[in-house]
Amino acid sequence: MESQKVRIFDTTLRDGEQTPGVSITPEQKLNVAIKLAELGVDTIEAGFPVVSDGEKEGIKNIVKQKLDTEVCVLARTVKADIDSALDCGVDYVHTFIATSDIHMQYKLKMSREQVMEKALWAVEYAKSHGLKVEFSAEDATRSDRKFLIDVFKAVTDSGADRIDIPDTVGYSTPEYITSLVQELRSKMNTPISVHCHNDFGLAVANSIAAINSGASCAHVTINGLGERAGNASLEEFVMALQCLYSKKHNIKVNLLYEISKFVSNTMGVVVQPNKAIIGENAFGHESGIHTHGVLNNPLTYEPISPELVGRKRWLQAGKHAGAHGIRAILIDFGIQPTEEQLHKIIEKQKDLGDKGKSVTTSQLLSIASEVMGNTKFEEKFKLYDFHIITGMNIIPTAVIRLNAHGKDLVASDTGVGPVDAALKAIQKIAVDMANIRIREYRLGSITGGSDAMAEVTIKAEDLDGNVVSSRKSGEDVVVASVEAMIDAVNKLMLRKVLYSKN
Ligand code: MN
Repeated sequence: MESQKVRIFDTTLRDGEQTPGVSITPEQKLNVAIKLAELGVDTIEAGFPVVSDGEKEGIKNIVKQKLDTEVCVLARTVKADIDSALDCGVDYVHTFIATSDIHMQYKLKMSREQVMEKALWAVEYAKSHGLKVEFSAEDATRSDRKFLIDVFKAVTDSGADRIDIPDTVGYSTPEYITSLVQELRSKMNTPISVHCHNDFGLAVANSIAAINSGASCAHVTINGLGERAGNASLEEFVMALQCLYSKKHNIKVNLLYEISKFVSNTMGVVVQPNKAIIGENAFGHESGIHTHGVLNNPLTYEPISPELVGRKRWLQAGKHAGAHGIRAILIDFGIQPTEEQLHKIIEKQKDLGDKGKSVTTSQLLSIASEVMGNTKFEEKFKLYDFHIITGMNIIPTAVIRLNAHGKDLVASDTGVGPVDAALKAIQKIAVDMANIRIREYRLGSITGGSDAMAEVTIKAEDLDGNVVSSRKSGEDVVVASVEAMIDAVNKLMLRKVLYSKN
């Protein structure tokens, strides 16, 4: 038996990189691997070396780094692939061949006997070169059960160290994988991994069912990346194991949010806002009833504390926000309205919400200043207008007119594109006045098509280390970016003005 802790085999750099449209450089691969090792994964599947020279180079860089985690690579049951693994300097190979009739007939064009022969050859060849071997029967969950078990038994007898059940097209149910793992457990002692895909949204549930019936390891990816609908998401799997099943693992869960964002940025795949654990909304509250509950005791509407996974709770000043939520946001800025003032603020803020506008924190503060007659928390930056010249073979240039601290100012700058030019122009004033800079810029599209809604998130920081984030969406990427930047600057300046006067 391997250790009682559930092993986390991370395949972000292999299956995750096979996400449609994703491809990363060898240097980016190394950076992700370093983060995965910090996170505490037991195995990093670093790639599929036979695919390209760049892939092989990326894997070699990871091996050279001598991370405190196992590094493994993928290989078909053919000599070129296993030699390519050996060439990378790894000591652990994950070799696979399909065992389902549909794959054998239409893809491999091989009989069961030929598949068995290839599998055994690969395990023996890899073992004879000193490699640790994990054997995957691709499409295991759609394979003839008796043949599948014969293959697993035979590779075990040939020296495979671990066997893996890939639910290649996400076709398994928790019940089926439970019975399959139990049967394998009763027939052999080889440690069992599972590799579940999310085509029916069951990847995490299937992985957990497998662990509960005797598997010791699951293949997972950061943000659930992977072919088609992706693999079991590491964050969801680990947190469910820990919180719902009291299972042990080696993951430093307080790093989950950070690595999720890092991988999202590196791979260019936006995390859906309502994704469990790591989605932007996973610890956000807008409705009055929920906000009230959470402010009294967070466990009323949060299953776990956001800090556990390296996050913070946030309250939205939208039209569903109740008095308690709005008051909490204002208090966070040091503003204490009377009951009557609070009532007026909420009325005005709901008005905006009913017009379909999402109310930002700085707008809420602006409303509060209007109601309370206190100019110190008015928005400090007010945009008048801007224009941009962009095209091909010209330098994108932006001119911005705004009022900052009561002064009318004009700034212009050039950039690599229109967004860059506009944000640089605003930053010129922001840096000048309050040392505020952009720390992070993210762009996602909410809908498809050339008129897609763009969603921009900007994180800005000042010299005192205050960081705020602002999100804006709209059909025009440049307008949304400019609005998000102005809002972020306002939030930071208000925070500074209000707190320094306390
Ligand atoms: Mn896969």
